[in-house]
Amino acid sequence: MTAYERHPPHPVGGTIEVITGPMFSGKTEELLRRMRRAAIAKQAVCLIKPLRDDRHGTTDVVSHDARRQSAIAVERAEDIERHIDSLDRRPEVVVVDEVQFFDLEVVDVCNRMADAGIRVIVAGLDLDYLGRPFGPMPLLLAHAEYVTKLHAICSRTGRPAHFSHRVEGGDDHVQIGGAESYEALSRDPYNEAVVREHHRDEA
Ligand code: ADP
Ligand code: MG
Repeated sequence: MTAYERHPPHPVGGTIEVITGPMFSGKTEELLRRMRRAAIAKQAVCLIKPLRDDRHGTTDVVSHDARRQSAIAVERAEDIERHIDSLDRRPEVVVVDEVQFFDLEVVDVCNRMADAGIRVIVAGLDLDYLGRPFGPMPLLLAHAEYVTKLHAICSRTGRPAHFSHRVEGGDDHVQIGGAESYEALSRDPYNEAVVREHHRDEA
């Protein structure tokens, strides 16, 4: 038996790439950079975002340094495949921003697209504002061929920041917001802030 017969190459060769980290870590910037490079390679690229991320009042994906790109806003993960199937030309690259907002179905959707030969690039928060793994992210990180963890700059220490601290608002799990509601913190300042708020809430 030849090596080829033992390990036949995947007939189409799609992959999953995950870009993750806290708010302001440059996930959207990096996603848009990979998209631009795919466009230079003349590949068809499709950019998707969840409908519930209505920060910019449009269906555009916008980074915190004001780069923007028009996107298709969808409500549920299954809508991603429905949209891809409706296109005349199947995209070589499917990009999903704010992927943490979708339910677990998005993991199957990404795997099916990659199995069908599509390069799938997703970006999302690894942790919620309470420091807990966010929605489908643990599974996406496990299934991905490539993972990029980014860090923001801690607003208190200037060190690499791994946590998104909610500075304003209630305790809903999902609260859409930007610099007015969240700050990026490294571990010690984040832990101090969480303990302080816990005692304040108890008082
Ligand atoms: P993400 O998608 O991870 O929230 P973006 O790609 O939208 O991040 O934004 C990254 C940009 O945010 C940086 O290039 C920088 O201009 C800006 N920025 C604002 N606050 C911070 C911070 N605390 N740390 C790093 N970048 C920040
Ligand atoms: Mg972003």
